Amino acid sequence: MKLNVVIPLYNEENNIIPLYDALTKSLKGIKYTLIFVDDGSIDKSLDKLTKIYNKNKQNIKVIGFSRNFGKEAAMFAGLKASHAEYTCIIDADLQQNPKYIVDMLKFLEDNPSYDEVAMVNDYSKEKRSQRFLKKAFYKVMSKASGQKTIAGASDFRLMRECVVDALISLEESNRFSKGLFAWVGFNTFYMTYAADKRHSGVSKFKLKKQFNYAKDGLFSFSTKPLKIATILGSIISFISFLYFMEILLQTIISGKDIPGYASIMCVILILGGIQLIVLGIIGEYIAKSYLEIKRRPIYVAKTKLGFDEDIL
Ligand code: UDP
Ligand code: MG
Repeated sequence: MKLNVVIPLYNEENNIIPLYDALTKSLKGIKYTLIFVDDGSIDKSLDKLTKIYNKNKQNIKVIGFSRNFGKEAAMFAGLKASHAEYTCIIDADLQQNPKYIVDMLKFLEDNPSYDEVAMVNDYSKEKRSQRFLKKAFYKVMSKASGQKTIAGASDFRLMRECVVDALISLEESNRFSKGLFAWVGFNTFYMTYAADKRHSGVSKFKLKKQFNYAKDGLFSFSTKPLKIATILGSIISFISFLYFMEILLQTIISGKDIPGYASIMCVILILGGIQLIVLGIIGEYIAKSYLEIKRRPIYVAKTKLGFDEDIL
């Protein structure tokens, strides 16, 4: 099989058929399989998928999860099930036009030195505030992890088999694919595009989820927050020591009492706050280690259509 397209989806009942039509139209003349991963949808997504599978068993495979495990798990399941020269990941909401798959494929075929093409959203159709926050996150992420993370480089990408093999060899359950893509390395070409508006439904990544996603990404890929805590602690200790010496000398020299209820309260509150933040940071790492150490599977598949049992 030449091309596999992995489509993670959650509650996308009204997007499945339009996406399927768009994919079939764009991929005309290419040997391909669509691997739909239904991430525990509670709408009619799985029914729609079964319908198109029954219509076109040649080109479609479906994995259905037992519950919602998240997009990262759905992508992992799709990549694990993909055995092809090229594998592409694309969202189900038609924000990412399937016509770019053909462009990416052409690029990799013409440029054997590249292993992967990643589509970079230029955010031109996003709100100013969103654009600013997202760009800022990628800057922080690059600095913190020491890996090049390009702002807007999405999961929408085409990979050679070696990249897919490397990605699925990383079996950590706390998956942050933008970091994983950077971590496995490989020669990546970045192609700019403007993501369209959603065809139907609403985004599953609202501001709170985006914030948690960013936080998880940071803690999964960097231990810098712990180092910052150490540095902060050292600086505060040093300043406190200087201040203590000043008070000591003043008391010895002038023999006066130093008044200071307000300043003591400030210092106690600031230090208390910093200590709680640092405790929280340590807690994040402990929680992540705790979840990782259980070695639970990344997803549980309930439905499999178009697979021989031994493939999954
Ligand atoms: N998705 C998923 N599981 C989830 C949330 C989202 O498989 O728990 C899928 C979703 O159906 C879509 C893709 O991930 O195909 C991107 O999600 P969405 O469009 O909501 O995110 P946004 O484009 O707003 O970042
Ligand atoms: Mg979307």
